[in-house]
Amino acid sequence: MYDLIVVGGGPAGLTATIYAIRKRLNVLMITKDLGGKTNYRLALPWIEDYQVIRGLEIVNKFRSELEYLKFARHMEPVQSIEKMADGFLVHTKGGGELQTKAIIIASGTKQQRLEVPGEKQFIMRGLCYSALSYAPLFIDRKTVVVGEGDLALRSAAELATVAKHVHLIGPTGEALSTDLGKKLSSSPNVTILENHKVNEVKGNGFANHLVVEKPDGGMQTIEAEGTFIEMNLIPNSQMVADLVDLDDSGRIKVDCYARTNIPGVFAAGDVTDSYAEQVLVAVGEGAKAALSAYEYLLPRL
Ligand SMILES: Cc1cc2nc3c(=O)[nH]c(=O)nc-3n(C[C@H](O)[C@H](O)[C@H](O)COP(=O)(O)OP(=O)(O)OC[C@H]3O[C@@H](n4cnc5c(N)ncnc54)[C@H](O)[C@@H]3O)c2cc1C
Repeated sequence: MYDLIVVGGGPAGLTATIYAIRKRLNVLMITKDLGGKTNYRLALPWIEDYQVIRGLEIVNKFRSELEYLKFARHMEPVQSIEKMADGFLVHTKGGGELQTKAIIIASGTKQQRLEVPGEKQFIMRGLCYSALSYAPLFIDRKTVVVGEGDLALRSAAELATVAKHVHLIGPTGEALSTDLGKKLSSSPNVTILENHKVNEVKGNGFANHLVVEKPDGGMQTIEAEGTFIEMNLIPNSQMVADLVDLDDSGRIKVDCYARTNIPGVFAAGDVTDSYAEQVLVAVGEGAKAALSAYEYLLPRL
């Protein structure tokens, strides 16, 4: 039986695993990839990579340390996690069953895609899924936010503080009646295209305009030096949906010690209800979860 299994190899899972190795726990990381969402980096024609701090450097350090320590990882999706009398049973997609005394869930979120022509071609080339991370790179630029919910409104509001113009495509009357919606409706550099739909992303090396369908079926072309798809994120929490408490959006509820409501189950990073989807936040939460799990394990080692 392992002391600790960490599910996920993004910033939160990598950090938690390295901390656990340093505490000399018998730890296993189970993940679909190494790096998680840090494997995506937005490229823009006016920005060189070295000009932006993305938190990637620290993640890559942890990643190379783990690659050097080959034994600590298992590359396979986790299907479900079950409580046993003295720990937990982790079921993997390939049918494997692994036993552990404690577990950290750091499986992140899935971003929703537009599923239109051009999206795959220009993904991370002018087209992105995180205004929270990249808005400061769009000073005086023409931008577009696509999405109907809270995330889209927040992203548009942040971009509006720096960009020349923001087109917000797709919000509904309900979203626009909130405080943020009202603020956006009266902002001089924001155009709201209610109930419009993106049909295609076009560009030349980088995405630079969108073909948009109006509610009456007519088409319109919008120039965009940066396009942000901001539809609410889907937490990868299905594996513990029957085990721990989730909030209304499916995020794992944790306290400030990264503990869930089930002793021995910890969670960190974007999959939890803690604040802000950012690399450095996930790194910190991953470290915290490992230290918290270590404290739980001390009497059981
Ligand atoms: C396009 C994009 C660009 C971004 N750019 C920045 C940036 O520049 N700066 C910044 O600070 N933040 C950025 N962010 C946000 C940042 O990447 C995330 O907040 C951070 O990666 C969260 O880390 P995490 O470890 O919680 O989750 P993730 O990075 O999502 O990692 C989750 C891990 O869990 C694994 N996993 C998922 N399901 C399973 C399963 N069933 N079984 C096993 N493993 C599983 C995945 O393979 C992955 O390894 C960006 C986000 C996006 C979407």
